[in-house]
Formats: sequence, C-alpha cells, structure tokens
Amino acid sequence: MAADIASLAAPGVRAIAPYQPGKPIEELEREYGVSRAVKLASNENPLGPSPKALAAARAALDGIALYPDGNGFMLKHKLGENLNVPMEWLTLGNGSSDILDFAVRAFVTPENEVVFSEHAFAIYPILTQAAGARAVIVPAKRWGNDLAALRRAIGPTTRLVFIANPNNPTGTWLARAELEDFLESLPAHVVIVIDEAYFEYASYAPMGARDYPNALAWVGKFPNLIVARTFSKAYGLAGLRVGYGVSQPAVADLLNRVRPPFNVNSVALAAATAALDDEAHLNKSLETTAKGMHQIVAGFADLGLGHIPSVGNFVCVDVGRPAVPVYEALLREGVIVRPVANYGMPNHLRVTVGLPEENARFLAAIEKVLGQA
Ligand SMILES: *Cc1c(COP(=O)(O)O)cnc(C)c1O
Repeated sequence: MAADIASLAAPGVRAIAPYQPGKPIEELEREYGVSRAVKLASNENPLGPSPKALAAARAALDGIALYPDGNGFMLKHKLGENLNVPMEWLTLGNGSSDILDFAVRAFVTPENEVVFSEHAFAIYPILTQAAGARAVIVPAKRWGNDLAALRRAIGPTTRLVFIANPNNPTGTWLARAELEDFLESLPAHVVIVIDEAYFEYASYAPMGARDYPNALAWVGKFPNLIVARTFSKAYGLAGLRVGYGVSQPAVADLLNRVRPPFNVNSVALAAATAALDDEAHLNKSLETTAKGMHQIVAGFADLGLGHIPSVGNFVCVDVGRPAVPVYEALLREGVIVRPVANYGMPNHLRVTVGLPEENARFLAAIEKVLGQA
C-alpha cells in the first residue's frame, strides 16, 4: 500500500508555496494564440549575452563528454582579478540561488530563525522553510528593508539575515553608511547574506542610486558576511546558471562543503569567464537599461500611474486596482510582466526594462488595458 507520498515529506517542505517563475514566451503563444510576444517578466538582459560569451559557450560544447572543472579555476581566477579579491574568497554556484541555498544549508538548522524583509526575494522564504527553520518577516519601510526593525528582530536563535541590495521586486536600495552600521551592529552568532544580483545596474551612475555601496569592500572586515552575485542579470546568462559568493575563506570553505561537486557546468564556466572580458557589452547593456528605465517611468507619469523608484533593471508600477486581471489582459496583448501579489503587493506589477520597442509595446498595452476597465 502506498502511503500518501506528501505525508512522507519533511514538514517544512510540505508547507512551501512553490516559486512562481515568469511565463515563458512559448507558453503564452501556445495558450493565448498570440505571436510576437514580449517577455518583460524575469529581469533578463534584452541584449542577450556578450558575443564573446556565446563563442566561448559554443567552443566549450566540444568538451562536454568530460566533467567540468569542479573548482572552476579559470572563472575564479578571472573573477579574482576582476573583483580584486583572493580566489579563496569565492564560491561558485549554479546561479546565485545556489549560493543562497548553500548559506542556508551550511548555517541554518530547524532550531534557527532566518530574518528578512517583507517584499523580499521569494527564494528566501522557500529556502528557510526547506531547512525547517522559522522565517521572521519584518515589515518594510517605504517598500524597502527597514534596517532598524530588522536589527530588533534578531534574537538569540537568529542565524541568518538576507538583504537584497537593491531588492527584487521593489528595486529599493540601501546606502553605504546605513548598511555598514547595520553590519557593525550584528551579533557574532548571525551570518548575513547581501544579495547583489543587480549590483551592476545599481552601481551604474545614470541609474541614480546615490551612495550605493559595493559590499565586497566589507568582506575583509566582517567574517560573517557573504555577498552573492550573478551572471543571470546584467551579463545575460540566466539560462546557463552561474553565480558566485564572496566571503572570507573560512565561510567559503563551509559553503563549498555543501556544494555539489560539479554544480557549475563547463559551458557555463566558459561563457561566464569570457563574459568578464567584454566590458563594452556590459556597458551597452547598462546604458540600454538606464535609458529604458527613463522611457518607462516617463510613460507611467504620462498615464498617471505611480511607481516605486528602482535602481535594478525592473520597476514596480501601481495600477491602482487588483493587478492580476491587468496582468492577464496584458498577456492577451502579448506582453508578459510579473504580478507580485505573492510578494504582498496586490496592486503592483513588476516590469523588466527591455529594448526601446519592447518598452513601447508594454506602455501601449497597459494604456489600452487600463482604459478598457
Ligand atoms: C535573479 C535574482 C537572483 C539570482 O538568480 P540566479 O539566476 O540564481 O543567479 C538572486 N537574488 C535576487 C534578488 C534576484 O532577483
């Protein structure tokens, strides 16, 4: 007799609300019979990866009968040079989601609490629950991390704090002095992950994030700090899954113990290494996004729609009514954005900044859809 298989699962796992990814273009076109759909739903780079990264990925295909370099030497070497950190500080991940996962698995037990903000990235509660630990979700301040409230929420059983800077989906960011004060204030039994998935955008001056810090500058000073970065966003390699953690070697050693031996594949390693050689492509990507952000925000103003100022490659717009029906109407117009009701933001939609013509398609579609209701 088969038991109800779900009853065999770890209690935390049974309670997980699955991550809701952006709808793939093929699925929309199949289900809605639309063509030329645009996807502005997963914060991907609309220019795609560097041609150098693509060439390296293609060349690496010749070697895929062999296991990848389990230590990712070439990529770590290049990253070390690029970031000016010792290779021993680096942990490679199958996307930076892997790094977040390793942090939880290396440090968090069911007796622990994990602290993060309301409207924080959806992976944090999923990983916390998977570990059987308790999530302490701290109310946001103006849509962003309320550092004073986060600090007050930290207790004797708190083991991990997650802060995304900037945060996804809100795009809000923390300035250098306030975040450094927070790090200084943490008790010694707490590990902190600063998730910098959108670092490249936020640190690009035209995005306008004043006093935006580079958390790598703090790694040497704080033995309990892990900085997570990714090639999925500004580098346009989301499909290959590569990210990395930067921490002191003692922490990197622990993260590497829970890391599956060949977690980053050889094609991804080659592409990411080559991507670091194409600063021109990165700059073009950042420029495209900064201009696109202005285009979209100006469009919101024209339509009388409020938005949350963002320094990522995405922005949340307040549609002034339940947003899921607006999302669905946009799908019928062939435009995929992201509802964020599951982030406690029922009247907002998150839109990724795309190419100028994609942004224009989105603005025309939302004008039409909101005019109909
Ligand atoms: C996209 C994203 C990530 C990581 O994505 P990967 O593809 O796994 O590297 C991490 N944190 C935040 C806040 C993100 O938005």
